[in-house]
Amino acid sequence: MKVCQTTGCERKLSGYALRNKVHDSHCSLYCKLSSEQPDATCNPKVSITRTCYVCDETFGLKYPYNHANQRTCSSRCQHKVESMKNGRRNFSLLTIIYELAPAGSSGLTAEDLAIRMQKYPNNIKGISGITQILKPFVRYGMVTATAEPGSRLKVFRWTSSPGIRPGHLGMCFGKYSSTHSSTSLTL
Ligand SMILES: [Zn+2]
Ligand SMILES: [Zn+2]
Repeated sequence: MKVCQTTGCERKLSGYALRNKVHDSHCSLYCKLSSEQPDATCNPKVSITRTCYVCDETFGLKYPYNHANQRTCSSRCQHKVESMKNGRRNFSLLTIIYELAPAGSSGLTAEDLAIRMQKYPNNIKGISGITQILKPFVRYGMVTATAEPGSRLKVFRWTSSPGIRPGHLGMCFGKYSSTHSSTSLTL
């Protein structure tokens, strides 16, 4: 049985751990981040300071399983995402890119993303579906799409602009452009 790779955590990567759909070798976002700390160890009593993916509040990410995959500071921010059209789906997809394909990483193809999104209850039509969904985010600059050298494969990565997080997805549809023009990305 595969267990979480982070030292100090022995959670099995099955059953409840399937609630973590982003990180393959770790039981949770908490343990993925713990593995990147200097001691690379899971210290269950220590919380990890994170910035909410929706607003600018910080919160402590905790080890207990019902908290270990938290991306927003509050149910209010979670609700804000879910109240947008396709908000939950888009937030899941953008979170995968934000956490697994940051700027400067090897990136993820539409096929990689389509496979990962199969774990979610959304009905996305494969590679073309992913490319279609990402269009407004690529146009806005939140996600970059570049052709790999020597191939026609497009690779997606998160923007290198700092401070842009998956919960800012509403910006890409121009809804907030008049009141939040200062948050526009510099391209
Ligand atoms: Zn773990
Ligand atoms: Zn928040």
